[in-house]
Amino acid sequence: MKFTTLAAVLVIALAQTSRPAGLHIYVVDVEGGGATLVVSPGGQSMLIDSGSPGPAAERDSARIADAMHAAGLTKIDYLFTTHYDGDHVGGAPAAAAVAHFDRFFDHGEMDPKWEQNRGIEDRYRAYLTLAGGKRTIVKAGDTIPFAGAHVDVVAAQGAVIAKAINHGGQANPYCADAEVKEPNKTENSQSTGVLVSFNDFSFLDVGDLTWDKEMALACPVNKLGRVSLLLATHHGFFNDQSGAPALLWGIQPRVVIANNGPRKGMASTAYDRIQKIKGLEGLWQSHLALASDPAHNAPEEMIANLEPSAECKGHWIRVDVQSNGQFTVTNGRNDVTKSYRAK
Ligand SMILES: [Zn+2]
Ligand SMILES: [Zn+2]
Repeated sequence: MKFTTLAAVLVIALAQTSRPAGLHIYVVDVEGGGATLVVSPGGQSMLIDSGSPGPAAERDSARIADAMHAAGLTKIDYLFTTHYDGDHVGGAPAAAAVAHFDRFFDHGEMDPKWEQNRGIEDRYRAYLTLAGGKRTIVKAGDTIPFAGAHVDVVAAQGAVIAKAINHGGQANPYCADAEVKEPNKTENSQSTGVLVSFNDFSFLDVGDLTWDKEMALACPVNKLGRVSLLLATHHGFFNDQSGAPALLWGIQPRVVIANNGPRKGMASTAYDRIQKIKGLEGLWQSHLALASDPAHNAPEEMIANLEPSAECKGHWIRVDVQSNGQFTVTNGRNDVTKSYRAK
């Protein structure tokens, strides 16, 4: 082989492996629902929630497909459903058509005693049709195989982990004055949540887990340790049903990403609470919170979408994690990136 030919082969080989090995996370904009794509260092992939039902499902599955394309995926191995509300599982049939999931993880049978979004029976039946025979019901304390990374289930069906993980287990000083709320009676309280760890990096996504369950994870001891990246619970503490300060401040995330909608989550109270996290290095948002002023939104360059849903292009936010723990967040709208050094 001539030198020039060899050089060309090398260039092509390098181009094909240009995305450095590591963990990659895409927070897909599904207009205030849930859809987060995680790709492990070994190349396994998991979609955490699948967006909304009805006419929105086409939009959401197209955005999931866009993130797959950006990640170089032609399929997604797992669908992990946090709970059965429409904005988390309603898009599952449309998402399955583009992602061809092999396995499905969820918290177990839908129980009508928990207050749910309308249409739950149809939604649940559609989900079961997809998942039948490929379904794994998870419990708090379970782990999910995920090549090159570690997935701990930290909450499911109203229970949380019994034992601390991720170097947690210390008394949490924020419990002393913590506001206690009544046990929540909605499907949100049944949310499954995961901590995805890769060496010293950790990512917490607990869906729409409610305040009372967040308190169970955080008090009297913080069972989750310190977390690198938090997907702000419940789209940025929707209606203060989630976002217990004892958890938020106890786990001390370095970076928070909110999968809020234009008018869902990330109220100014949520913004203020996030800013009080000790050592916070960055807040990113899927959407500009239209009801809040600029002083109660992340800096504009760190917001993926600025418009109301009707005009929204649905840009994602990507997180690339290196094996040494350094991670970089990229705004899909403007390619603004920020790197957070290994600690
Ligand atoms: Zn939700
Ligand atoms: Zn949007």
